[in-house]
Amino acid sequence: MTLNTATSNTSNIQAIDSAHYMHPFTDHKSLAAKGARVITKADGIYIWDSQGEKILDAMSGLWCVNVGYGQKSLVEAAATQMQELPYYNSFFQTTNVPAVKLAERIVKLAGDNYSHVFFSSSGSESNDTNIRMVRHYWATLGQPERKVIISRNNAYHGSTMAGASLGGMGGMHAQGGLPIPDIVHIEQPYHYGLAPTEDKDAFGIRAASWLEDKILEVGADKVAAFIGEPVQGAGGVIIPPKTYWPEIQRICDKYGILLICDEVICGFGRLGKWFGSQLLGCKPDLMTFAKGVTSGYIPLGGVVVGKRVAKVLIEQGGDFNHGYTYSGHPVACAVALANIDILEKEGLVDRVLNETGPYLAQKFAELGHHPLVGGADTCGLVAAFALMQDKEHHIAFDESLEVGMMCRNHCFANGLIMRAVGDRMIIAPPLVITKVQIDDMIALILKCLDATLKELQSHGLMGNELLKMNAA
Ligand SMILES: *Cc1c(COP(=O)(O)O)cnc(C)c1O
Repeated sequence: MTLNTATSNTSNIQAIDSAHYMHPFTDHKSLAAKGARVITKADGIYIWDSQGEKILDAMSGLWCVNVGYGQKSLVEAAATQMQELPYYNSFFQTTNVPAVKLAERIVKLAGDNYSHVFFSSSGSESNDTNIRMVRHYWATLGQPERKVIISRNNAYHGSTMAGASLGGMGGMHAQGGLPIPDIVHIEQPYHYGLAPTEDKDAFGIRAASWLEDKILEVGADKVAAFIGEPVQGAGGVIIPPKTYWPEIQRICDKYGILLICDEVICGFGRLGKWFGSQLLGCKPDLMTFAKGVTSGYIPLGGVVVGKRVAKVLIEQGGDFNHGYTYSGHPVACAVALANIDILEKEGLVDRVLNETGPYLAQKFAELGHHPLVGGADTCGLVAAFALMQDKEHHIAFDESLEVGMMCRNHCFANGLIMRAVGDRMIIAPPLVITKVQIDDMIALILKCLDATLKELQSHGLMGNELLKMNAA
C-alpha cells in the first residue's frame, strides 16, 4: 500500500497508518478496528480533522502548545535559522548564538538561584540528564553512595528507561523490567482521592512527611535527590495542598538532598508563573523543561541548573561525560526564543495568573454542581475533576466500567479534546485562550457530562439518589 496524496482520503490514510505507523502508548489492535483520527490543520485553540470537523483542543496538543497554533513568528524564526545555520553541535568547544541567548534568557526567567542550562530534545532525555547530573554531583563531592532518587506514585517523567523508572506509572513499570535500580517511590499528595475529609493543609504536611519516612528508610546518606512535578500532569492533574511544597523543601534542606522539579508541563506559564515552583513555594536545585519552551512547534528540552549544582560541576566536576547530538540545537533554540517573545509581548503568563486562571477556577467551581463531578480543582490553566458515582458519599465508579473513557468518547464526538486519566477528566488549554473561549469550552464540557450521565443512567449505573436529584 502506498500513500497517494492526490487521491488519499481518510480511510486510505487510516489503512496505511495501521499497516506501518506504530503509535506511542497505543493498543494497535483496537485502534485498527476503528481507525486513527487524522488531524490535518490547526489554528489558535482549534484543530481540524480530515473530515473537516473542528475540535477545541483543551489539552494544548500534549500539554505543549502554550501560545496556540498558527503563530507565524515561530515558523519564521525556524526558517531564518535553518538558512543561516541549520545545525552545529556544542561538543568540541564550539557553541551557537541561539543556544547562548536562550540559556541566558531561561536563567533570567528562572531567577537568582540558577546559573546554567543544559539542553536536550525532550522531557525524557532531560530527566535522564538529571539522574546523571545529580549522581555525578555527589560523586564529585566524594559521596558516590548517594545514588537513590525518590519519586512519587503516578508521577510522569517520560518514557525512556530512566524517565519511566522515575515515573510512578504501574502500567509502564509492568513492561520491560522497570524501574531501574536506586529509584524508589512515595505516595502522591492526592487529597480528594486519599483523604477527602482531612483538612487540606494538614494533609499536605502529612503527604510531605512520607518523603522524610522514605529518606530514613533508605538512609539519608544514600539519597541523592527527590523529584516531583509541581502539579502532577499525566497522573491526573493532582494539585497539591499549598502546604506541600514548602514542607518538601524543608525536608530536602534538612537532609541536604537535592530537589528536582519536573517543570515540563508547569514551566513556561502554565500555572501563571514562568515556573510552577515559583508559584508553589520551593526552590529546586534542578528544573526539567520541554513542551512549552517551544510550544511544541519543534522538539526541545533541558535542565535549568541551580548555582549549588553548577558550581560543583564546573569547578570540580571535570568532564561531564554526557550530552546529545541535538543539545543546543540552533533551530530549536531560535524557535524557543520566538516563543518566549510571544509569551512576554502578549503578557500571557500574567494573564493566566490574574485573568484566565481565576476565571477558569470560577467556572470549574460551577461545574462542581454537576451530579457527576467531584473534587473539581484548577491551578492556572490546568484543571481536573473526578467522575463520581455518588459524590455525597464519595463513592467512585467501578474501575472496570471505564467511565472516564466513556466521557472522553463523548468529548471526541462533540468537538472537544479533554483527556481521561482513570475517572479523572483533565484539561490544559493553550494559554492564549480567552474568557469567551473558556465559556465555549465549559459549555462543551457540560454537554459531554450530560451525555455521559445519560449513558450511565440508561445502563442503570447511577445511584438512586442521583437519579432523583437529576429528575428534580
Ligand atoms: C511529557 C512529560 C515528560 C516527557 O517529555 P517527553 O518530551 O515526552 O520526553 C516528562 N515530564 C513531564 C512532567 C511530562 O509531562
